[in-house]
Amino acid sequence: MINRITDHLLMSLHNEFGWGDPYDELDKMFGGDRETIIKMIDSGMLGYNGEQFGTDNLGSEWQRAAGYREYIAIPKIDFSESNCENYTEIIEACENDKPLPGKIFDLLGEYRLKEKDAYDQQGEIIIYNRCIRQVGKKIYKETSFGSEVTEDTIINYLYDIVLWHELGHWVTHWMTDSNLHRWNNQPKLFDEANTELLEGLAQCFTYYAMNHLKDDKEKECYMKVFESLLKDQPDCYHKHKEIIQCKVFTWKGLMKGIENLRTENDINKVSLEDLKKTISKYWQI
Ligand SMILES: [Zn+2]
Repeated sequence: MINRITDHLLMSLHNEFGWGDPYDELDKMFGGDRETIIKMIDSGMLGYNGEQFGTDNLGSEWQRAAGYREYIAIPKIDFSESNCENYTEIIEACENDKPLPGKIFDLLGEYRLKEKDAYDQQGEIIIYNRCIRQVGKKIYKETSFGSEVTEDTIINYLYDIVLWHELGHWVTHWMTDSNLHRWNNQPKLFDEANTELLEGLAQCFTYYAMNHLKDDKEKECYMKVFESLLKDQPDCYHKHKEIIQCKVFTWKGLMKGIENLRTENDINKVSLEDLKKTISKYWQI
């Protein structure tokens, strides 16, 4: 299931905009003969379980729909049973029907650099299971989803939303763009201090993933969970609306806008406003 969720976002970005290399990790693991390895994966002779490749026990978790390809070069994702930051506050909010603490998207999950300021390496994702289950229950209780939707479904959707948000941070920072750039060559420009830009982009990618779901009912339900989680959250988590609802918005324009920011030398021009200006240039192209 985890692969389906990461693939849904990353393969779509790859296929639609030429971002990222789904098989980047293969070269490191197997050397040069990438085509043979891909053929082996496609024919089911070699499987990947999110951590390692194998030729044994290729059971159901390896099986893919025809033509379905996995995005292998994903960051490390750790589903943790540890308490997240602000754990007590979150549980108290869930038990007493109070608003959730701010920054909730990045309390339920985290995109963390391996070391302080290690912008030249990809970070890791941590997903906090216990809090997600509690918050999922709260959202289910407070929102009307219709009788056919179960609490477990909402908890699972919340997992996916938090994972897409954190992957959104990884995409922004690390996924290579169509010019093979990452946002790591000038660390100062990739600065967590610019929360409105970085959170705005993570939310855009979350929205992109939801918006590209094929099933309309499912999409509507994901959107409801997303909106519920957004309630009472600080402005930076709402910035995607300024981007997406802009009259001249296109997803291609957004990706080009990020590509521009990645090569901008003037830190004052690495801003949400400048991103919006670039998006407008790509309107109707
Ligand atoms: Zn975030």
